[in-house]
Amino acid sequence: MTESETIVVVGCHWTVNSTEYPTISEPFSVSPYCSKRPPSDTSVNYASPWAGAHYRPVPGSSPQALREAGQALRTYEFMKRVAVDEPASGVQFIKGIEYLEAPPPEYLDEQSVRNSYSHLDGLRYLSAKERPAGVVWGVEYDTYVVNSPVYCAYMLRKFILKGGSMRKYTLASLKEAFSLASNVRNRGQTCLVRNLSSATITRQNSDGSWSFCIPRPLDGGTIIGGTKQPHNWDPHPSPEIRATLLANAAKWFPFTPESEGKFDVIHDIVGRRPAREGGMRLEVEKVGSEQFIVHAYGAGGRGFEISRGVAEDTTALMLDHGFLHPKAAL
Ligand SMILES: Cc1cc2nc3c(=O)[nH]c(=O)nc-3n(C[C@H](O)[C@H](O)[C@H](O)COP(=O)(O)OP(=O)(O)OC[C@H]3O[C@@H](n4cnc5c(N)ncnc54)[C@H](O)[C@@H]3O)c2cc1C
Repeated sequence: MTESETIVVVGCHWTVNSTEYPTISEPFSVSPYCSKRPPSDTSVNYASPWAGAHYRPVPGSSPQALREAGQALRTYEFMKRVAVDEPASGVQFIKGIEYLEAPPPEYLDEQSVRNSYSHLDGLRYLSAKERPAGVVWGVEYDTYVVNSPVYCAYMLRKFILKGGSMRKYTLASLKEAFSLASNVRNRGQTCLVRNLSSATITRQNSDGSWSFCIPRPLDGGTIIGGTKQPHNWDPHPSPEIRATLLANAAKWFPFTPESEGKFDVIHDIVGRRPAREGGMRLEVEKVGSEQFIVHAYGAGGRGFEISRGVAEDTTALMLDHGFLHPKAAL
């Protein structure tokens, strides 16, 4: 890339904001970051501010699962540094706990669990005595939680300070309409409450439902979740779902005793996770003689957890194709 060329980044708050384009390329031309919505905006179609967000490994041995495990591991190491060096980022390390009533086969396969959990500090299987009734598999470990609106604004600020700029603009076409058919939006409903929890806890129930609580750093309340509803386009929170989420949280999660199982609700959240059948798209597409699109989208419910790993893979792709040049080591 020469000084007269420009990289335009479309959308992708977590990826672009986790990427260090301006430090990797020398010289670096101004890089407009084009988005329909800046971090301060909200919309059901803009997932990032709605994310819980916590990191919980997802075991598996498919190529996609292994790739995400690697990205999640690198993001975990990155978040450790961010949490210590820059507490105003809204990233904080706390205890993570998982309870499974009916663990799927990948949780019972030692290798598959090792692949995705072994890097976690403080990892420990919970004994039968420590597990609540009905739970047959449980672990605890040190993980991070993210106050997602704070984190998006913080990362965008860093991007701009390093020489990037942002433009609020709706693209009519990205010359990729042909590939959009494989995109799925996966509705998630959660509830932000004032009640406090000292750990982020996830429970997978035998009926396939989920329950989780994610304290948001910097006094951001606690997210109580949640649903995963692919192809559900309802933008409104369902009062019935809210009641179920809160009733389950009162049963299963250790909120401070003075709350007496009641919740002080701040607001309901509905967001559409941008998922893709077959996993994330991470590749270069040539769309003109000297025009390329670098795709990095479709992270589904894991955009924050794999952000740094995806950003590194995207940068590597751009280096491979000569869109960026490594900074010379002195
Ligand atoms: C309820 C819920 C809970 C979640 N919990 C977690 C969690 O615990 N951990 C985790 O890692 N992830 C979680 N996620 C998922 C996470 O939020 C997403 O993976 C991540 O935010 C995806 O980021 P993105 O930048 O790809 O998409 P988005 O945040 O949706 O951003 C897309 C961007 O593209 C822009 N855009 C779209 N169309 C155009 C156009 N035509 N022209 C210009 N710009 C355009 C939009 O304005 C926006 O800025 C959760 C999501 C939800 C909804």
